[in-house]
Amino acid sequence: MSSRDDKLYIGIVLEGAKVKTALVDTQGKILFEQTDPTAHRKTEELTRQLIELIQTFKQKAPQYGHLIAVGVGVPGLINLKTNKIEVLPNLPQISTTTLYDDIMQATGVQVIFDNDANLGAYGEWQCGAAQGHQNVIYVTIGTGIGSGIILNGRMWRGTTGFAGELGHTTINIDGIECACGNIGCLETVASGPNIVRRMQQRLYRDRTSSLTRFFIPRDREMTPEDIVQAALSGDELAQVVFERTGHYLGIALGGLINLLNPEMVIFGGSIMAVGNILLNPIIAETKQRAFGPCFDNCKIVNAQLGPLSGVIGAAILARDIFK
Ligand SMILES: [Zn+2]
Repeated sequence: MSSRDDKLYIGIVLEGAKVKTALVDTQGKILFEQTDPTAHRKTEELTRQLIELIQTFKQKAPQYGHLIAVGVGVPGLINLKTNKIEVLPNLPQISTTTLYDDIMQATGVQVIFDNDANLGAYGEWQCGAAQGHQNVIYVTIGTGIGSGIILNGRMWRGTTGFAGELGHTTINIDGIECACGNIGCLETVASGPNIVRRMQQRLYRDRTSSLTRFFIPRDREMTPEDIVQAALSGDELAQVVFERTGHYLGIALGGLINLLNPEMVIFGGSIMAVGNILLNPIIAETKQRAFGPCFDNCKIVNAQLGPLSGVIGAAILARDIFK
């Protein structure tokens, strides 16, 4: 049971279209959560939304305990040298220092920012599948594909904080152009929007899928969740699309396992709601590609915290930084 002396933390993760917020205790247990549409087309809107969310959750905190700090995950690269968030889609480069000052002034609560994949890795490492492990890679598959890397019991951030961009590994030199400007990145075939693109192409060739009657007339835009649900309901074409997606992910993972020799790789993010339908083909392809001893000593698993790895990681990172 929580008491009013318990320390509490807010975890916030900005995704492509949604922002997830949770009130979390020191053990990583979620006490209250909500999901809203993201309003981050402009810097001022993003700042205002973050402030409003923190104020809302700050008002809820006293019934559970004492609010200490906030962790925020952003789907972009945070330059550790300049504190600027770079390469954030639909948003000009903004400074986490400015955001910190604005939020601190409006709410009086301390805040830490990190890349969303790093926070997913941190959540699974501290409270989920990777507890007690030292060498772990967490891969998140959603609107984009990112990863968080833990080596020798520490987050590996790279020289400027940009480490872990697994989604921009080239896997097809003759592929299509990626949003990053490169050709044939993993993201161009295995991210949520690109799973939709590949499914739509197949629907026109094979009309047996349960999705045909909804999306050939184009009553509405197909979402990755539609394909996840179809695959879980036994739709063979949707399952084939995920099998192929697993093949692409396994190609990238085989190289990554050979490079870093981790003891565990965890797959999370919204697409992994499809679970073993995608995880099993990833494992099969990785086994084909990686050195035997590297593959045999690496567990490849679904995220234990499911879609909450990021918000729990954000809150727990705030716990470890602000105590
Ligand atoms: Zn790319």
